[in-house]
Amino acid sequence: MKIEEFRAQAHRVAEWMANYLETVEGRPVRAQTSPGEILALLPGSAPESGEPMERILADFDRVIMPGITHWQHPRFFAYFPANSSPPSVLAEMLTATVAAQGMLWETSPAVNELETRMMEWLRDLLGLPAEFRGSIQDSGSSANLVALIAARERATGGRACREGLAGHPPLAVYSSAEAHSSIEKAGKLAGLGSAFIRKIPVDRDQAMCTDALQEAITQDRAAGIVPCAVVACLGTTGLGSVDPLASIAEITARENIHLHVDAAWAGAAMMLAEHRHHLAGIEHVDSIAVNPHKWLFTNFDCSVLWSRDPEGVARALAMNPAYLLSQEGAAMPEYRDWGVPLARRFRSLKLWFVLRSYGADQLRTMIRQHIDWTARLAQLIRSEPVFEVVAGPRFALLAFRYRPDGWDNERVDAATEALLRRINADGRIYLTRTLLDGRPVIRFVIGQTYTQWRHVEEGWAVIRELARTNAAV
Ligand code: PLP
Repeated sequence: MKIEEFRAQAHRVAEWMANYLETVEGRPVRAQTSPGEILALLPGSAPESGEPMERILADFDRVIMPGITHWQHPRFFAYFPANSSPPSVLAEMLTATVAAQGMLWETSPAVNELETRMMEWLRDLLGLPAEFRGSIQDSGSSANLVALIAARERATGGRACREGLAGHPPLAVYSSAEAHSSIEKAGKLAGLGSAFIRKIPVDRDQAMCTDALQEAITQDRAAGIVPCAVVACLGTTGLGSVDPLASIAEITARENIHLHVDAAWAGAAMMLAEHRHHLAGIEHVDSIAVNPHKWLFTNFDCSVLWSRDPEGVARALAMNPAYLLSQEGAAMPEYRDWGVPLARRFRSLKLWFVLRSYGADQLRTMIRQHIDWTARLAQLIRSEPVFEVVAGPRFALLAFRYRPDGWDNERVDAATEALLRRINADGRIYLTRTLLDGRPVIRFVIGQTYTQWRHVEEGWAVIRELARTNAAV
């Protein structure tokens, strides 16, 4: 494609982008296609000769868009948001165009140095300790993996990455039964083995029981197993619960165990003074992961891992082959050593655009609104006798079930599942489920950039409307 044609097509794509964001509300939130439907529309092999961009873009609308679930839809209340925003999208366009690699300082000093400054800006906005230094990882899962690798190296005195774990006593990691699955996955990837990822029971608020944590550590030590890391979760994926960081930190400080915090979603709420109390104990935390690509209006992928000792991570992960030797960058941190990939996208640009375009004040207002609207929604749900709020509101998440009077658990559970199926087949809103004490509940999460209170009201109206027809279940 000639640059002149690129210019024309780029204008056309920009027009498409603005139209999409203007009209996304009119689309069903969840893709309405069945498995294999998109695949069947795609030719079995690549074209031998190039095709005109007009045809490719037309097929994008015809073939691809029907199979898209609209995460930027203002009535997307499922999972956690993976929100984005106009300034973030503009930065992504520039990142894609410049397509610079940030594998070394030298391969693009601006990629390295903007990342350094953004990690400081965001750290300070979230009220994290000034000693923390961070880097952008491609996902929360990678951030949790890197944190466990750092913990493994500390627990083995650097032996694990040199000699492996053969002959070493097993290492154990402790997180709550509500922790995200990426913790267990990280344990597998770090060679610790999922059998040694201890799932500590939770209390009535789905937060980690610290007595049970202490007991598990003591038992492991007695059995010759080495406690390696505790992962506290600030905002669990299922129900948004918060582990008691201050009490956990007392244990890890006493026991000399790496304390990692997974705040992938709710970390964004630490911008608000009224939620900072959840960080009590942070002075004993060794590392923390927060995903701006969830609730901070920044396109996926942008997950930050701050660490008190990033050099510890670098000692474990640094590789210095001859083809990467560079004298000039020696004064700057080389972020390739702080994570898994060597090549690194220019991810800090979108964070810079977002933080500057909105300013901290506006970001706080948006997050605070999401939290306030969740509390208002909880009141509406509580005012309807056939519904029960079963967890939350916690930050911007609540969970509810459909529970008419006099119904037994089995009937309530079946009706709750049936209601969720109806809601998602309907398409006007999108919600997802989890289990509470083994029973299905419906989650409602507010955090999409374009969501206004009216969208939440519309969502609640859809739930009530479909619940009326659900009564027959
Ligand atoms: N930690 C928590 C608490 C999460 O909710 C998630 C994802 O939802 C993750 C980690 C994993 O994040 P990612 O999808 O960026 O790998």
